[in-house]
Amino acid sequence: MNLLITGGRVVDPSQRLDAKADVLITDDTICEVGKKLKSPAETIDASGLVIVPGFIDLHTHLREPGQEHKETIATGTRAAVAGGYTAVCAMANTIPPNDERAVTEMIIAEAARNGACRVYPIGAVSKGLKGEELAELADLRSAGCVAVSDDGKPVTNPQLMRRALEYGAMLRMPIVAHEEDPHLTDGGVMHEGFYSTLLGLTGIPAASEETMVARDVILAQMTRAHLHIAHLSTSGAVQTIRTARKAGVHVTCEVAPHHIALTDETVQSFSTNLKMNPPLRSDDHRRAVIEAIADGTVDAIATDHAPHHFDEKNVEFDLRHSRFATSGSCAKRSSTFRG
Ligand SMILES: [Zn+2]
Repeated sequence: MNLLITGGRVVDPSQRLDAKADVLITDDTICEVGKKLKSPAETIDASGLVIVPGFIDLHTHLREPGQEHKETIATGTRAAVAGGYTAVCAMANTIPPNDERAVTEMIIAEAARNGACRVYPIGAVSKGLKGEELAELADLRSAGCVAVSDDGKPVTNPQLMRRALEYGAMLRMPIVAHEEDPHLTDGGVMHEGFYSTLLGLTGIPAASEETMVARDVILAQMTRAHLHIAHLSTSGAVQTIRTARKAGVHVTCEVAPHHIALTDETVQSFSTNLKMNPPLRSDDHRRAVIEAIADGTVDAIATDHAPHHFDEKNVEFDLRHSRFATSGSCAKRSSTFRG
């Protein structure tokens, strides 16, 4: 492929570049970035557009293996490429979960065969995502997992989390935490606040996330491990991470686009597309998250891409349990609030 892209704003952090420039691609390789480049190659006018390296999505749920009626590695990676992503991390809550080498190897092999972009598998923290017994973390690491997470579900047992962090430190592998106290969340279908009261729906308090973030930051400090907080959504969690960073704790975090763009006010429509976990928060939380992106407390924006079948979304907003109870992930679930 020979291509000249002209007149765009080129942003490339690896070159500390943020300027209006032309980009010349020859034989699939970027061979020149500069002003007023000339080439016989096909030209695209990118005036008013931003040209960036391919995005990396730290948090996706590809539904293969086990739920290919929702998505496959082939279709999920094509969706990623259409959105500007050239690499995605795939969470472990497939069926069966990615809690052993055979599943990791299958994902890597299928991504190589039919994937449209790079796929980095994230293994499970616990066997079967049950939160009871550690998965074989070293084996998952050597099979190609870049991190481990029970995402979709929290690791409620602090001793299990401690052990996971200890192994994570040893294996130089981050532990990605879905922060939610199931006892505080229990029965909740949206953010607990003014609108949950108005709508008569059971709320999930911000404290459900904030208490678990506080616990895991303390455990990360104790174990000197790398803790990564997934889809952070509350002002209290932001504050805890800010303080922990100053104290030298190795904690990073990501936020999801819906928590930046939307609030619980929109749930008045009762659209189940607005039902997700963590839930859409109130505007003060949304603003705190945006502030945290601006000041660098937040390290990344990750999509939490998690497709669901039409049948699962075409239900009452406060439906909590159904035969699809094992099929959800952390985003846009309506049939259940469990992983
Ligand atoms: Zn997720």
